Amino acid sequence: MYDFLVVGAGLAGSTIAERLASQLGATVLIIDKRPHVAGNTHDPLNADGLRYHQYGPHIFHTNADHVVEYLSAFTEWIPYEHRVLARVDGVLVPIPINRTTINRLYDLDLDPAGVERFLSARAEPLPRIENSEHTILSRVGRELYEKFFRGYTRKQWGLDPSELDATVCGRIPTRTNDDDRYFTDSFQAMPKDGFTAMVTKMLAHPRIEVVTGCDFGWILDRARFNHVIYTGPIDEYFEYKFGSLPYRSLRFEFETRDVAWVQPVGCVNEPSEVVPFTRTTEYKHLTGQTHPKTILSREYATSEGDPFYPIPRPDNRELYRKYATLAAAQRHVTFVGRLAEYKYFNMDQVVASALVTFEELARTAAVAS
Ligand code: FAD
Ligand code: UDP
Repeated sequence: MYDFLVVGAGLAGSTIAERLASQLGATVLIIDKRPHVAGNTHDPLNADGLRYHQYGPHIFHTNADHVVEYLSAFTEWIPYEHRVLARVDGVLVPIPINRTTINRLYDLDLDPAGVERFLSARAEPLPRIENSEHTILSRVGRELYEKFFRGYTRKQWGLDPSELDATVCGRIPTRTNDDDRYFTDSFQAMPKDGFTAMVTKMLAHPRIEVVTGCDFGWILDRARFNHVIYTGPIDEYFEYKFGSLPYRSLRFEFETRDVAWVQPVGCVNEPSEVVPFTRTTEYKHLTGQTHPKTILSREYATSEGDPFYPIPRPDNRELYRKYATLAAAQRHVTFVGRLAEYKYFNMDQVVASALVTFEELARTAAVAS
């Protein structure tokens, strides 16, 4: 008998479990069907002792001080600013597009004002920004859109940018200066011993019991609890009553090389549709490890497999709303996280959302008692 069952030991489930146990003194059973905690941020060591991210590169960045403060109780941090190069017309240039990108690609020597004029002359004025194609055309025009965004997005999502919400490609800014960092958030760092170690510490509370390799369906008949926190796919919870919500999945090819370094930055993106994968990550850049060997992954986007990405487009949002209405009526179940809220959340947003959800649960508990 537990006060709470938390389904899913990713960042959403682990944050709530930790808060419930440490702040409310609640007893918590947290389960995950995978054989480990930390969800998609799981970052084990390979046989050579090289740390890698089993479900693709995860870089922590945020402007939310309260999220940093919260997670800092469970980890120290090492500074890391992510940089990405895109292979375009056979050369590696910074993405997000910046002054270096334009000068290198077009053999120019423009200053920031010159880059501004260069981009404005190409940008397509559009009355409304309704999708990701519009977002990029309105910023940099068709040629750069086709070089950097169209192919990558089609591979990543299996959809044309015109079929995706404006916010998807809108995640990538355009710059006229030399800043080649992928993110500009005020806090950019990686947990010193990795995400799995951080989550393990979050869950190391005497009132929390962790069971991995355990599915929700299996535990339902075997344990008792007053309330469920569900962080899995919301459509699965409701047995696909209104149909399946679409998710994009990924297949990873990992390779260990007997050299210290292979690429100059953490990720090299491949926007060309001739190349079947989207990006190559060299994890030592992210983890700060010193090692004579190096580990890389190539990412192939697929429609089958683990649900990694909710697909942001209007019809999917409509379908999600139907499930969200059912969810809101569940008095003893709370839905939180990237899959349960069907939102393209970053890690900091998931933690922030889980902290808000905890506050609401705590208020309800206070009213009930
Ligand atoms: P998850 O981590 O998916 O955890 C949900 C857990 O629930 C899973 O472990 C799953 O096994 C479990 N589960 C589901 N159903 C059941 C069930 N029926 N029974 C038991 N367990 C169940 N964010 C960033 O901030 N920076 C990045 O660089 C970044 N890169 C990313 C790269 C990739 C390839 C992907 C896919 C995501 C990336 N993200 C990044 C987003 C980040 O992964 C998520 O925001 C965050 O991990 C979501 O946490 P969560 O707990 O909601 O979900
Ligand atoms: N994108 C692109 N080319 C790039 C990088 C990103 O077209 O070189 C688009 C693509 O649609 C991608 C979206 O911008 O899905 C958001 O990129 P981000 O790097 O944030 O994706 P994530 O890390 O979440 O996979």
